[in-house]
Amino acid sequence: TILVTGASGHLGRLVVERLLARGAAASDIVAGARTPAKAADLGVRVVELDYTKPETVAAALEGVDRVLLISSSEVGQRAAQHQVVIDAAVAAGVELLAYTSIYRAGESTHILAPEHVETEAAIAASGVPAVLLRNNWYTENQLADVQYAGTSGVLAAAAGDGRIASASRVDYADAAAAVLLADDQAGRVYELAGDVAWNYDDLAAAAAAIFDREVSYVRQTVAERAAALEAAGLDAGTAGFVAAMDASTAEGQLDGGDGSLAALIGRPTTPLVEGLRAAL
Ligand code: NDP
Repeated sequence: TILVTGASGHLGRLVVERLLARGAAASDIVAGARTPAKAADLGVRVVELDYTKPETVAAALEGVDRVLLISSSEVGQRAAQHQVVIDAAVAAGVELLAYTSIYRAGESTHILAPEHVETEAAIAASGVPAVLLRNNWYTENQLADVQYAGTSGVLAAAAGDGRIASASRVDYADAAAAVLLADDQAGRVYELAGDVAWNYDDLAAAAAAIFDREVSYVRQTVAERAAALEAAGLDAGTAGFVAAMDASTAEGQLDGGDGSLAALIGRPTTPLVEGLRAAL
């Protein structure tokens, strides 16, 4: 039996779909969701699984052989929440824990890295047989900027010339499904990224192609980016966070790609323009 946490989320839903598409029996898959009703349409058994309620996590893991811990969306709470799943996985004696980490967690200085690094360390310390899926950026993360570029002709960011080797969520989901269904995965670390790393000039060109209009990349400093986001209505904390993510991009934290993702899924990763079009 394979349990997927966060199964009500964008990635979790896709993982369940890809497990089924790759031939797993519906009866061998369990979808864990803190609000089970949100996963009721997946066609597999759904159990309550709330990281903040350890008893639900322990119950969800009963009889489970392999578990995919999809990192929580509650930034700042994640390490503690993930620890609950790790502890339950140890208690249940699972044969494999897969975890969706951040690209190059080991050396990353990306603003989102620390919670993932902490979780990876906790997994190692627990001794549970584990595989790390270090996911690069989702192409879908760019959607709001690209949509705004479509109406304004401007793509503003503080990303400099930094490149992002993004892929579509479905690519990462398919890779997770492939790993969950494969043998001999314990101890492996996958750096998963798109085949093509693009910069913001490329992203502007993608927006231009999608909306059939001129789009130019306006380079901002991190301070300018934060101020512009605040002026657009974001609270100061969120604006600063988004600007800091741009700074991480400018530093090249999301550049790279060694073909591991394409190799796992057995096809090229979804190209930037195609991924954006599909998400729009
Ligand atoms: P979503 O926000 O769509 O899904 C997050 C999932 O986590 C949801 O199912 C959510 O449940 C669940 N969750 C949140 N808090 C809890 C909790 N206390 N107990 C149990 N479940 C909880 O994100 P995505 O599917 O798009 O991405 C998956 C994860 O990947 C994110 O959570 C984040 O850690 C990471 N991420 C990575 C990105 C990248 O570019 N690599 C970009 C964005 C996120 P509910 O449906 O009830 O809210």
